[in-house]
Amino acid sequence: MTQQASQGDPAETGPRPIVPYLRLPDENGGDAYLVGKKCPECGAIYLDSRIGCAKCSFVGDLPEVRLGTEGSLHTWTIVHMSRPGVPVPFVAGIVDMKDGISVPANIEGVEPDPAKLKFGMPLRLVTDKAFTDAQGRDVIRYAFRPAG
Ligand SMILES: [Zn+2]
Repeated sequence: MTQQASQGDPAETGPRPIVPYLRLPDENGGDAYLVGKKCPECGAIYLDSRIGCAKCSFVGDLPEVRLGTEGSLHTWTIVHMSRPGVPVPFVAGIVDMKDGISVPANIEGVEPDPAKLKFGMPLRLVTDKAFTDAQGRDVIRYAFRPAG
């Protein structure tokens, strides 16, 4: 006999992030943010889980650190073809965070036009619902938009 999850428990029924390095606001509110794994020896930050540091060869647990919500556009491309159901064109980019890490993200709030995209343009993190999963939970994705 399996134990059923309690109905209404936000950890079981509420929105969930689409990637493990996105944190959503809890019942106390606040803003969504990204997290990284930071090497305690050299300070290198990674988005994914690791058993050690590729930069300094430290082996062990890399503690989680909260990343900021602001960055700048490192590079980008305009995607004209994607899987069925994904509206195109859209802008896929790499965002340099102020924490010294770069993250992949869609760039929204700006036309997918090379004349509108500037290297180094300031960006801020945003989130919205990507889809509803098979369990009926909202799956939340992140993107970046021009700041200010
Ligand atoms: Zn290191």
